[in-house]
Amino acid sequence: MTKLAFIGAGNMNGAIISGLVNKGFSPKNIIVANPSAPKREALSQQCSVLNTHSNIEAVDFADYIILGVKPYLIAQVCADISSNTSIANKCFVSVAAGCTIEQIQQALNSKQPVIRVMPNTPSQLGFGVSGLFASDEVNDEQKQQTSELMESVGIIKWLNSEAGIDHITAVSGSAPAYFFLFMEAMQNKAIEYGFTEQESRALVQQTALGAAQMVINNDMPISQLRQNVTSKGGTTQAALTTLIEGGLEQLVTDAMDSAVKRAQEMA
Ligand code: NAD
Repeated sequence: MTKLAFIGAGNMNGAIISGLVNKGFSPKNIIVANPSAPKREALSQQCSVLNTHSNIEAVDFADYIILGVKPYLIAQVCADISSNTSIANKCFVSVAAGCTIEQIQQALNSKQPVIRVMPNTPSQLGFGVSGLFASDEVNDEQKQQTSELMESVGIIKWLNSEAGIDHITAVSGSAPAYFFLFMEAMQNKAIEYGFTEQESRALVQQTALGAAQMVINNDMPISQLRQNVTSKGGTTQAALTTLIEGGLEQLVTDAMDSAVKRAQEMA
């Protein structure tokens, strides 16, 4: 049976572990390592997985090592692992933004199989999107296992090049926050109109959910859905004209390019 070691008991690893256990993956085959006790113990209790303070103990237990620490810690954590235990036959899966496969293999001092994953925060609810890219050393079975790992928290997309990780960062990794900003602006205006904060939130969140569901439930292009709800000379058209003339579409594409540029700078 495949065994998994999660290095870091934070938000992202926590989301993946919850997703896996909810999907029926045996918690006995999962261990989580974190230096401080409260987070790892809480996660261990919540999901019935094993836990340890020692990254080395976790690595020794598993076939797949999921690196879920902050990007600036990846090199140090990998160097510590490779100098203190054998990593032969182990596949490393990194969710860290901006850390390249080459950097991870260098820190491990070995051409290990490494898979980079760019998930997003809705993974916590099982509605995630993850982009994946594998190093040449990764075999088909490791790809399959990692697909199943990330499918436990949402949909996945294998990428043809490592540069694709930067692109999917802009399209889905960073993107929940774009929608939050849009919803925040709408909520603030609704409050100005006299709705309470709670009422405004309820109105905006249900509208966002409804719009997403309409996209999901229809095969027609999104532009067609928009046109279908835009009567000539009506209120929706008045609002959209303001958005379009204000340069919304250009702003969105510029924002996505900024995310790509920042991801490239971080590597
Ligand atoms: P987090 O701060 O919630 O979790 C990091 C965890 O690592 C903490 O529990 C911390 O105590 C632990 N840690 C610190 N030093 C450690 C060490 N030496 N060994 C083991 N554990 C250690 O962060 P997060 O939001 O879960 O992000 C983790 C990674 O996931 C980052 O690299 C980030 O780029 C990536 N990521 C996160 C998101 C997201 O939406 N949260 C999206 C995509 C990628």
